[in-house]
Amino acid sequence: VRSFSRLAMLMLLAMTFSGCQQFAAISETMFMMSTTQELELGQEVIQQLNAEMQYVNDPVVVSYIQDLGRKLWAYSPQGPVEPRFHVIRNDELNSFAVPGGDIFVHTGLIDAAEDEAELAGVIAHELGHVIRRHGAQHVSHQMGLEFVQQLVLGEDSGQVAQLVTQLLAAGVMTNYSREDEQEADDIAVRTLYAAGYDPMAMHSFFQKLVQQYGEQTGVVSTLFASHPPTTARMEYVQQLVRQLPNKTYQRPTQRLREIQERI
Ligand code: ZN
Repeated sequence: VRSFSRLAMLMLLAMTFSGCQQFAAISETMFMMSTTQELELGQEVIQQLNAEMQYVNDPVVVSYIQDLGRKLWAYSPQGPVEPRFHVIRNDELNSFAVPGGDIFVHTGLIDAAEDEAELAGVIAHELGHVIRRHGAQHVSHQMGLEFVQQLVLGEDSGQVAQLVTQLLAAGVMTNYSREDEQEADDIAVRTLYAAGYDPMAMHSFFQKLVQQYGEQTGVVSTLFASHPPTTARMEYVQQLVRQLPNKTYQRPTQRLREIQERI
């Protein structure tokens, strides 16, 4: 007790004497951008990614992914940033979310899913990152208030573009921590369960990919490059599922097969 009160007094003294500087330092590390700032940042990011991405425009494929995504969103804990879903023509097994809620799903990923529950698991995981605003959080915490203001208020669009290029190159937006991954997996398992999909589909999809391609190499290393399917993640998912009450699950395949035929 004594050491605590001594520490508290020292902190109080430090705050009194160093004044604003101390507070500025604290608020700088705790800074979190607003949802409006997050949306603006996201728009900048998408503008840059657009140069490298080929969108799938087949309305049947796009609405399948959008309907699946919106259904999962409806069963998820949700958040202040609403998701939007896009399909990208790319053979790499990947999907990713950018700040502002846009989720991109590669055709390679859709193709690799055995059933709709497996695909839903990946999309629900991305929803977890959107709901918890992980990308925006990383940019906020690592770059600070001044940087974000510069980013969204910058009148020189060339300068803003350069800042976003740097952020993308440094992987600040997708450099998720283990805690982030667990949080996203946690949301994904609960969302699948609530929507009636078998949450073990996440586990089976990871397992199949690792068995097929080997851990951390080749295709699997590009699979969710920022969130690789590690053994620890698989065990975590299994543990979460075991805690859920029994339920009859769906693992539908028919609609997915039709979509896979089209891509
Ligand atoms: Zn992730």
